[in-house]
Amino acid sequence: MQLLDLFRRRQQDIGTDFPDIDPMPTDHVLGDFEPEPEPEPDVPLPLIRFLTMGGAVVAVSAYQFTTSVTWKGRPYVDRENPRKVDGFRWECGGCSATGATDGSSGPRMDFGSYLPDEWDLARTDANDHANKCRAMDPAALD
Ligand SMILES: [Zn+2]
Repeated sequence: MQLLDLFRRRQQDIGTDFPDIDPMPTDHVLGDFEPEPEPEPDVPLPLIRFLTMGGAVVAVSAYQFTTSVTWKGRPYVDRENPRKVDGFRWECGGCSATGATDGSSGPRMDFGSYLPDEWDLARTDANDHANKCRAMDPAALD
């Protein structure tokens, strides 16, 4: 095919048939993406850790839960108006004890959940457990 013929065909194509071009494409194109949100970690990050005699870790971590205890603290309860709070919980990595099994009476009755103003109690309970627990680090058993 001659160059001149190609030129003529090209002119005819342009003159007769414009392709349908969407000036504002809504489909995602390569390189156009929204960043995905970071997934929540499955294991909460410990705020403080204690070591048992056998090398197991007792970790206190932040824990959000719903409680019927009022803002006045224990033992004031309002079952009509439960509220969500950012409290604490602890767990022994050696024997699986928690505030529910070896905590002070208030948090023990509350499934091992410590209220926001019970940080000192959570830390003390976890440390007391670490002092008396002789469980070994599970990784040492392999
Ligand atoms: Zn333990």
